[in-house]
Amino acid sequence: MPGDTGRGSEGRPNAGFIVTSDGVVVIDALASPADGERLLRSIRTVSHAPIRWLVLTHHHPDHTFGAIVFRRAGARVIAHPDLRTLASEGGDDALLADWVRVVGLPAMLGFQFADTPSVAVTGTDTLRLGGRTLVITHPGAAHTPGDLIIWLPAERVLFAGDILIEDGVTMMVDGNSGALLHALDVIDSLHPRIAVPGHGRLPPDPAVLVDTTRRYVTALRRDMRAAVEQGGGMRKAMAGLPPADETRPVSLHSRLRRNAVWVYLEMEKAVMGLDDSTDSAGARR
Ligand SMILES: [Zn+2]
Repeated sequence: MPGDTGRGSEGRPNAGFIVTSDGVVVIDALASPADGERLLRSIRTVSHAPIRWLVLTHHHPDHTFGAIVFRRAGARVIAHPDLRTLASEGGDDALLADWVRVVGLPAMLGFQFADTPSVAVTGTDTLRLGGRTLVITHPGAAHTPGDLIIWLPAERVLFAGDILIEDGVTMMVDGNSGALLHALDVIDSLHPRIAVPGHGRLPPDPAVLVDTTRRYVTALRRDMRAAVEQGGGMRKAMAGLPPADETRPVSLHSRLRRNAVWVYLEMEKAVMGLDDSTDSAGARR
């Protein structure tokens, strides 16, 4: 179920579902209970089997705030137990208030935090249901500390979460650019036939999107490292970048700029000999 691509990769997240002979597995829950209901209705046009599992690719609100709908439908949640994101830094109330501003109060009715896993995955786990096999892996704290990728080996279909975004500019400000490169290697090693990115349309060739993403991250790390070593300061390092869009924190320009700030700080730590595997945010609860 590809998200709306009318606003580029910025707006709507993707979700998916897998129908088996023993029930349905849903991948990600969209951005609100209203969106979750919409996704459930889509599933019900295809199958009336029980919803067994909801697997979350990470804990950003635009992928989890519809989770309550699937909990109520009987699903158990598979997710990484690390719920931290920058969005949750101000606490649950602030996170919810921010999101009400984004999607509107009516869309949030009946909301409650529902992304805490019933089954936590921190390494690799295999889910077998109704003749289908899903391999669920934490590829490292690439996009967020709680990233999971979902791989269907028989079908060669990968759900990458926000490690892949349709335009190749994946956000790293809740994760780590080095871990992101590692996660891309993991995805490449699978040779997926179909890769579902976290936002936007499915790439005609998954390997091309992985390569585009890798080139972007690698160049940013190289440029920011050079800037740190030349000692001109962050302002100079950022001079060639477009200004961020003030009211659109995840527009392309905003992502380019926020990633650059983040990777500059990573490279500063690396050059100073400190670990660049950044711990990004305080615990949400
Ligand atoms: Zn995300």
